[in-house]
Amino acid sequence: MRKHKLTGPSAVEERPTRFIPYGRHEIDDEDIAAVVEVLRSDWLTTGPKVAEYERAFAARVGAKYAVALSSGTAALHAAVFALKLGPGDDALTTPMTFAATANCLLYQGATPVFCDIRSDDMTIDPAKIVQKIESDYRPVHGSLRNHRTGNVLRAIIPVHYAGRPADMAAVREIADRYSLAVIEDAAHALGAQYRGSPVGGCSHSDLACFSTHPVKHITTGEGGVVTTNEAEPARRMRIFRNHGITTEARERASQERRWHYEMADLGYNYRLSDIHCALGLSQLRKLPDFLKKRSSIADKYLEKLGDVAAIMLPRCGTDCVHAWHLFVIRLRLEMLRINRDEFFARLCERGIGANVHYIPVHLHPYYRRRFGYAPGDFPAAEAASAAAITLPLFPGMADEDVARVAETVRNLALSSST
Ligand SMILES: *Cc1c(COP(=O)(O)O)cnc(C)c1O
Repeated sequence: MRKHKLTGPSAVEERPTRFIPYGRHEIDDEDIAAVVEVLRSDWLTTGPKVAEYERAFAARVGAKYAVALSSGTAALHAAVFALKLGPGDDALTTPMTFAATANCLLYQGATPVFCDIRSDDMTIDPAKIVQKIESDYRPVHGSLRNHRTGNVLRAIIPVHYAGRPADMAAVREIADRYSLAVIEDAAHALGAQYRGSPVGGCSHSDLACFSTHPVKHITTGEGGVVTTNEAEPARRMRIFRNHGITTEARERASQERRWHYEMADLGYNYRLSDIHCALGLSQLRKLPDFLKKRSSIADKYLEKLGDVAAIMLPRCGTDCVHAWHLFVIRLRLEMLRINRDEFFARLCERGIGANVHYIPVHLHPYYRRRFGYAPGDFPAAEAASAAAITLPLFPGMADEDVARVAETVRNLALSSST
């Protein structure tokens, strides 16, 4: 009997330390009240809150238009649709990201082509973009054609890895030189700034895509937003998120034919509901506060781990404001007796919910099988991934938890150093 008891509740009580997750949403009574208000109203799905949320989001990032969608992935998909990328089109992106960044192209029949990252900040390397273009594409009738597949290069999709903006000036300059569109995967970067402009204001891009999944800066449960300064893509995305149905036909129809509508394109049900948007509006008001907390936690990590030789810390250049979605350290594996997986396991044992961002997209079985990718194809991304550990970072994180994580990481690195 006694033996069994140890695996029951008492075993949990005896666990020495509370588990700290790597990310967590922050919901308060105001958020709850905002959602309850919608539940008591006449609209549950597309009602007044959607437009209100879109206006507030656009204003927050300094864009003309914001289109709310059911997820960050749907936002990326809508962006690809808005720019009319399809079969025979290529877009360049980074392998150091969540698979959705590349998947969104495949949904529309377009092809993701990876370019390796810069080792220092893990964002797409503009030099490697140029290299890729010069080696694989040649100009044919004003467009860039891949000389093996015949595909036309249409766009670049940089990712603001961990909340640190990619080198957008260089990306834009290359895009302009070759007449390419730029879609920012800004899922990590709500609140970030690049050369004085908020990410999402599209100062160097055509479209920017955000996610409001619970681990991101603000949450709507599931949700996404695309921002842009151009009317046409915004219009196309509104149609796309509603099955491809246009409202113009209904508006033209006479009173007796109010049932009439037209499906002009193949769209999806990617709408975000009033319930979600009410939560988004409430969360958006807290964003400045969330960002402050995130950055103060990052500062503490930077301070407490700054002198540990076996740990490489993230940095933000002087030309940007980091949004600190993730705090990713990299181990200098040559200085340690244990590898990343062992380091990770030791953190878990001590109740620290670390994570790894990311397994490079090209190494996922689907991408290997479909495109023939293999280890060694993108050495900078692979090396960064093999050394990366994401430390817990979220606005509600207690000071003592930040201290505990920093202390544990520090001690582990020092005691495992060669
Ligand atoms: C979270 C995330 C997405 C997808 O967002 P969802 O809302 O989960 O669909 C896309 N790209 C990156 C880089 C992300 O971190």
